[in-house]
Order: sequence, then structure tokens, then C-alpha cells
Amino acid sequence: MRMILLGPPGSGKGTLAEALCQRYPFIHVSTGNLFRQHIANGSPLGLEIRSYMDQGELVPDELTVKLVEEVLQDPKIREHFLLDGFPRTQPQAALFDQCLKRLGVKLDAALHVHVPDTLIKQRLGGRRVCQGCGKTYHIESYPEKVSGVCDSCGGAVILRPDDRPEVIEKRLKTYHEITAPLVEYYRKQGNLLEVDNSGSIESVLEQLQHKWPHEEQ
Ligand code: AMP
Repeated sequence: MRMILLGPPGSGKGTLAEALCQRYPFIHVSTGNLFRQHIANGSPLGLEIRSYMDQGELVPDELTVKLVEEVLQDPKIREHFLLDGFPRTQPQAALFDQCLKRLGVKLDAALHVHVPDTLIKQRLGGRRVCQGCGKTYHIESYPEKVSGVCDSCGGAVILRPDDRPEVIEKRLKTYHEITAPLVEYYRKQGNLLEVDNSGSIESVLEQLQHKWPHEEQ
């Protein structure tokens, strides 16, 4: 099974991806996480993309598609990927189709995760992330036990630069203008599944049980 997750920043794609990987044989590939790793390692790619990410702007298509194509060279990932945060532009989607063709594999589903903007602003504005292990917290619903210190690894828990309120606005605008049209693109391909994630992840999993394209997952 190969699937992509489409949805605005803060729609819970990452958490949903983790839950899906626990239940089904998916391998979670998040382009945002891969980019953050490059930045943390100070790699040449990390240096090139840092300012785009901090400002809430999309990384150029060419760099993004190259990164994804590299990851898909791994045969296991190629068979079971759950792509989170990619594709995000029309050119990325078209290049991704070509890439899948070259690799001889087919996309099974594009899962569109709905969440209203007001809820997203609450979720992202209160989100805090561990710089060490990436674990996420929320100042109201899931705070760390000791303020600023990760419960799991003791790393520093911070506000991601791209979760600042003005950057959240920009990321949402980019999503609606540039990424949201991909929903129609995948609907036309016949691959679209839609769920609402205003409630709990359990409710999304429940919605999905009735929508999977194949019987065997
Ligand atoms: P995310 O963790 O998915 O919210 O991604 C964080 C940031 O990584 C985005 O705001 C972009 O700067 C960059 N990014 C992640 N995925 C993509 C993509 N498919 N295309 C361009 N930029 C991306």
C-alpha cells in the first residue's frame, strides 16, 4: 500500500501517520522531518533550505522532489510509503507521477485530512517541539512535565520558528493557494479519500476503516 497525506499544516498529518504505521505496514516519510534533519546536521542541503523553512515558505520543487526520489530508491520504502507533506505543489505532483512511473509503482490513495483554520491556529500556536527527539507537546492539552524539558530525552522543548503566529498565517495562505488544488488533482485520478480530523485520531481511523481502497492492508 502506498499513500500520500494531503492537508493543511497543523491538520495532524504527522500524528495520524504514526497511528497508521502502528496498524498497517506503512513507512512514514515526512519531507518536513527530513528537511529538519538536514538543518540539524548542518548538511549542504540544510544550509540551502533553512531560510525557506524558518519563514514558512516552500522549499523549491527541484530540491524537494530530488530528496523524495532518493528516499524512494529504498525498495522497502517504495512498496510501503506513507508520504506526509509531499507533494505540496502542482509541479511536485506531476514530477512525482513521473517518478512513480520510472520506479514501476502505483499510488493507492491520497488521503485528504480536513481541519478548519481556526482550530489549526489553536493547535499550532500552542505546539512545542523537542529539539532532541522531535516529540511534540501542546501548552494546554499536553504540556511537558518540567517546562522546556522533554519528558522522553531531556532535550530542549521549543516553539518551532515556523509555528510563530505570523508564520502560521503565511503557511495557511500558501496551503490554500498552492497545495489545496491538489485535492482535485487526486480526485480526478480516482485516488482521493477524505477524512475529518477536528476530533480525535481514533475517530479518523474509524472513518478510514470504511474507505480503504483494498481489502488487504
Ligand atoms: P511540515 O513539517 O510538513 O509542516 O514542513 C515544514 C516545512 O518544510 C514547510 O513549511 C516547508 O518549508 C518545508 N517543506 C516540507 N515539505 C515540503 C514540500 N513538499 N515542498 C516544499 N517545502 C516543503
